[in-house]
Amino acid sequence: MTNARDLFRRYLSQQVALGRSLVTLPNRPGVAAPPHVAPADSPPAAPATASPAKVPATAPRTGRGRREAPRWDTDLPPIPPAGIVIPAPDSDLFAADPLAGATLDAVVAQIHACTHCGLHAGRANAVPGEGPADARLVVVGEGPGANEDRLGRPFVGRAGDLLNEILAAIDCPRETVYIANVVKCRPPDNRKPLGEEMEACMPYLHRQLALIRPKVVLAMGATAAEALLHTRGSLGQLRNRVHDYRGIPLIVTYHPAALLRNPNWKRPTWDDVRIARQLLDR
Ligand code: SF4
Repeated sequence: MTNARDLFRRYLSQQVALGRSLVTLPNRPGVAAPPHVAPADSPPAAPATASPAKVPATAPRTGRGRREAPRWDTDLPPIPPAGIVIPAPDSDLFAADPLAGATLDAVVAQIHACTHCGLHAGRANAVPGEGPADARLVVVGEGPGANEDRLGRPFVGRAGDLLNEILAAIDCPRETVYIANVVKCRPPDNRKPLGEEMEACMPYLHRQLALIRPKVVLAMGATAAEALLHTRGSLGQLRNRVHDYRGIPLIVTYHPAALLRNPNWKRPTWDDVRIARQLLDR
């Protein structure tokens, strides 16, 4: 009887006769297959293809996979109760204001020439504000930072980009909004403007608001709220109220620069701006 060794020897001889240099042994239970024994005449192995990387559900999507931004008018927050009332000044007093330019352009020219407080000494450019004279929404921030001082424009850089996104999300593109600050010249080291600096500069903002006469004012940050509402209340106390600035509804919310530091404030800001947006339609 032919034993297994003889059979295997004959098998190898046949393979050599057929011109094979590599031999694949059949797999048997309990016998591990060789790691890789390929016949010499087998086609070259196809290049390995990487399986697509798994994208975490939380990853931001771009391009065609981008998440749809929620519409501003779904699940609207309710209009909050009334807040602080700042009455309009007597018209005769206002007309006597030496900073009361007759037009927005005249106010801008006055600001560029202004030396009424110490901030003028450190400015590269005054930042009067920008936007259409008939804007329905006016955004008010604190004061120019380094980028604004360099360019002479309000809300540029990352905080400006975020503001642009917020405005676009409520269907109020930046070019339709007037944007200004409490002080028009940059405080050194981006500190908060001093009381006397705000007092010296506020007549310009009052005049801008009187000339534009918007439907809504959005005060972004505690300094803007303090200057317009004459109060030092916290944002927590001043948000979620419809204040009255000289007959114009005024909403207080976080400054975009604060949102960059603390994204947890984006949600309440989204509610605030949608309250402002609803007031625009009233
Ligand atoms: S901050 Fe205002 S008040 Fe002070 S110099 Fe500039 S424009 Fe004039």
